[in-house]
Amino acid sequence: MIDIKSPDEIAKIRAGGQRLAAIMEKLKTAAVSGITTKEIDDLAGQLARQQQAQPSFLGYNGFPANICISVNEEIVHGLPGEKKLHTGDIVGLDFGLLYQGFFTDMAVTVGIGQVDSVASKLMASTAESLQLGIKQIKPGNHIGDISAAVGRHAESGGYGIIRNLTGHGVGRKVHEPPQIPNFGNPGDGPELKVGMVLAIEPMLSLGDHTTELATDGWTFKMKDGSLSAHFEHTVVVTEEGHEILTKYQDGK
Ligand code: MG
Repeated sequence: MIDIKSPDEIAKIRAGGQRLAAIMEKLKTAAVSGITTKEIDDLAGQLARQQQAQPSFLGYNGFPANICISVNEEIVHGLPGEKKLHTGDIVGLDFGLLYQGFFTDMAVTVGIGQVDSVASKLMASTAESLQLGIKQIKPGNHIGDISAAVGRHAESGGYGIIRNLTGHGVGRKVHEPPQIPNFGNPGDGPELKVGMVLAIEPMLSLGDHTTELATDGWTFKMKDGSLSAHFEHTVVVTEEGHEILTKYQDGK
């Protein structure tokens, strides 16, 4: 069953999503050459607490950090540590908040300084896939319409689509049903209804789609060592179509 949130609940999720988006803007700015991923993790925790929110990944399934930071061939769930960022790296920042009892989830991939054109294009295509997936969100469409739109764009660019990790419902918990794969067929899967809150998150690579777990026990990385990118928004299905709840709004 896919949970339906009430307008009051959605208002709280929106309030959390705006805070998450504002924090993410600051984290993007902080991601520069020479900083360690642990320093970004500390900042993420501080910024969350300043917003009267909790970092929702901390302790989730035992995850020992505030935020997931995944560098280059690391795709998701990257465990922050003493690793320094370098010019040319591409860095996935995936952060979740618990605010007023509700969960939001968001990810971006940023380049450190000047990155090469192949890496830039991978990041742009992953962000475009996210937008194309979100465009399919409206009452009466199906989860498969989102999956197919993401997958089509990724394949047209020749990118690998990570298959063993998916988007998901969100709001009352960090992860809720349904799973939202980044490939699939239009019309498949559950029908979208007003009040469903979904985390859409394409994960693409320059190579094959196979991932492996790093020795830290948390970080998923590409088995073939290829560069990978990840973008994510929390989105609610509305009468008119959808609303991105983690969209950055200047001044908030
Ligand atoms: Mg997620």
